[in-house]
Amino acid sequence: MFSQMLELPDHRLRLRENLLQISRAITAQLDLISVLNLVINVSVEMLAGTSGLIALYEEEDNDELRIRTSVGIPPEAWPALAPLLELPLIDPDTPREVEERILREVAASTGLRLRQVVALPLTFHNRPIGIIYVFRAALNVAFSTDDVRVLQAFADQAAIAVSNARLYQGVLREKQRLDAIIEQSADGVMILDNRWRITTFNKAMETLTGWPRNEAIGRPCAEVLGIRNMQDTPICPRDCPLQRGPHMQNPVVEGRITSRDGRERYIQSRYAPQEGPGQTFQGAIANVRDITDQKREEELQNTFVSVISHELKTPVSIIKGYAGTLRREDATWSEETLREGLRVIEEEADRLARQIQDLLDVSRLQTGWIRLELTDWSLPMLAQEVLRSFAAQTSDRFAFELRFPDDLPPIRADYERVRMVLTNLVGNAVKYSPDGGTIRIGGRAEGDIAIIYVSDQGIGIAPEEQERIFERFYRVDNRLRRTTQGTGLGLYLAKVIIKAHGGNISVSSQVGRGSRFVFTLPLARRQITVSDEK
Ligand code: ADP
Repeated sequence: MFSQMLELPDHRLRLRENLLQISRAITAQLDLISVLNLVINVSVEMLAGTSGLIALYEEEDNDELRIRTSVGIPPEAWPALAPLLELPLIDPDTPREVEERILREVAASTGLRLRQVVALPLTFHNRPIGIIYVFRAALNVAFSTDDVRVLQAFADQAAIAVSNARLYQGVLREKQRLDAIIEQSADGVMILDNRWRITTFNKAMETLTGWPRNEAIGRPCAEVLGIRNMQDTPICPRDCPLQRGPHMQNPVVEGRITSRDGRERYIQSRYAPQEGPGQTFQGAIANVRDITDQKREEELQNTFVSVISHELKTPVSIIKGYAGTLRREDATWSEETLREGLRVIEEEADRLARQIQDLLDVSRLQTGWIRLELTDWSLPMLAQEVLRSFAAQTSDRFAFELRFPDDLPPIRADYERVRMVLTNLVGNAVKYSPDGGTIRIGGRAEGDIAIIYVSDQGIGIAPEEQERIFERFYRVDNRLRRTTQGTGLGLYLAKVIIKAHGGNISVSSQVGRGSRFVFTLPLARRQITVSDEK
């Protein structure tokens, strides 16, 4: 169309007219390659050329010129055109013979008909951004200065469009990078608009809330997150600090949420409000973190303090009470009263020592430090020793039984720690059997392991409590909780110790009928088998 126009006498005028329209169309395009394609097509037509290309200075590539688009030249031929790019064709001082020689060489090596060339810089704000090359296949009609001037006018317009498209592409890339950062963030990130509606919702938010992003986006934040306080009343929207406007410095909201799949979590949401002109609220970025574990740990610490203060204080006050009474100078005590008093003092001192040991063990285990002293020894012997110590105090209410086969092989375990486990289990059996009954320790060998149980006929444990009793500080909330002493640490420690030996501990129980704790420990013969194989 342009080649025909060139033939017309008033073609320059028409071209100018068209140029403006074309420039507008090009400037409206934001995709860089589409802009470049348009520019090169128009340039080639305008100069009645046969082929052409655009090379841009690439910032990421040391500002080297790189071909980005062409017409009439297949992309496979681009590398062979390199000598042309190295030649300062746009420099009027370049001798014509040099130009022609290079053009001939390139034409020969590519097999393209490149007889004449005109090259014009694309400049934006006095900065070169690239070069447009237009070629003709015939030698008869040379590029006139007029041609060059027209193309230069167009190139100046095109340079603006190219710059815009490049800028836009840069912004787009940056946005994609930011989107990726938000998406990959380990914390939940959501962006709210000025009506607290969600506009961005990352992967971590999906996991935390159970809401898929396509459903969450567009909804009010209060509906998706629904943070409630400890009293279970919703914080959003009424008490949300964001409602008070953008003047707050990074407000923080903490509370419970129920995820869409029914999980209860405790979260902390930090907001960065965006302020618009006249201090209007424009929206906010919220950083949402799951702090359930942290919160649980805090609660545990509080329990820890109250348990310690209560549990350790009791034996101390008993000891102090007895000691004070016994040493009163205004009273004389019979031998029997004296001995009874001292027995209680000794017993309470032992209990105190055990509790302190438990607490020490717990704090050691929290730092992941547990070293086992493994030796081979007889389990029935230990069981008998443990039962004997309890029988001495409680034989009037309990029958104690041992059930082990005679040929049970020795086990390989930390003697003192297993003694602690058994003492705790039998101690619990006694504590939680207010009406007495039979307490039994038994076991058998199965393959490489010993399976050991401690059973009682006490109050039992409800099914929903059976997992929880192995947690730190957990005590079942029943009438015995108030009347029996305990830290809720015994079973937790038992579990950690048994697990450290590679074993397992579990409970089976029926409320009102009794409980049976079963755990496993390695037999010593496992080691023997290994050395036999050598
Ligand atoms: P503690 O006995 O110091 O409270 P444990 O960790 O030993 O702590 O036990 C946790 C809870 O499990 C106890 O508070 C009790 O409610 C329950 N429990 C443990 N053993 C028995 C048992 N043999 N019978 C009934 N309930 C038990």
